[in-house]
Amino acid sequence: MDINKPDINAQTQSVNTAQSIPAQQPQFQQNTKFCKHCGQSIPSAAVICTHCGCQVEDMHSGAAANQPIIINNNNNNNNNMVGVGMVGGNPKNKWVSFFLCLFLGVVGAHKFYEGKIGSGLLYLFTGGLFAIGVFVDLFTILNKPNPYYV
Ligand SMILES: [Zn+2]
Repeated sequence: MDINKPDINAQTQSVNTAQSIPAQQPQFQQNTKFCKHCGQSIPSAAVICTHCGCQVEDMHSGAAANQPIIINNNNNNNNNMVGVGMVGGNPKNKWVSFFLCLFLGVVGAHKFYEGKIGSGLLYLFTGGLFAIGVFVDLFTILNKPNPYYV
């Protein structure tokens, strides 16, 4: 007697799931609108009512899209490099000068590298100002940007 009860429940459940009809989607309303003059349903894309002929959409949006985009491109490139050119003479590699000073500073190699022939000869004959000038130049070169300009 009790055997049939589960079957009945299963049938009712299957019926319930089958009866759950998805909600109707009013798709016809998505593509239509109502004329604000005559009240008739017209296509949403219509600019002029198909029933009364009155204009229902502003033409501004379409007209604005068709206008050419005028960019006032007065970008005067005044980035002249005069200032940088005035500062520098010859660009010198910081590390080339540093290692020349470190190993050959006592003969003024870094001074010759910088084109300073006079002080280079002075370093050459005085042993890099008695090694004091070399020592000072090492830290001076370290504090310079790379490249630096002589
Ligand atoms: Zn109309």
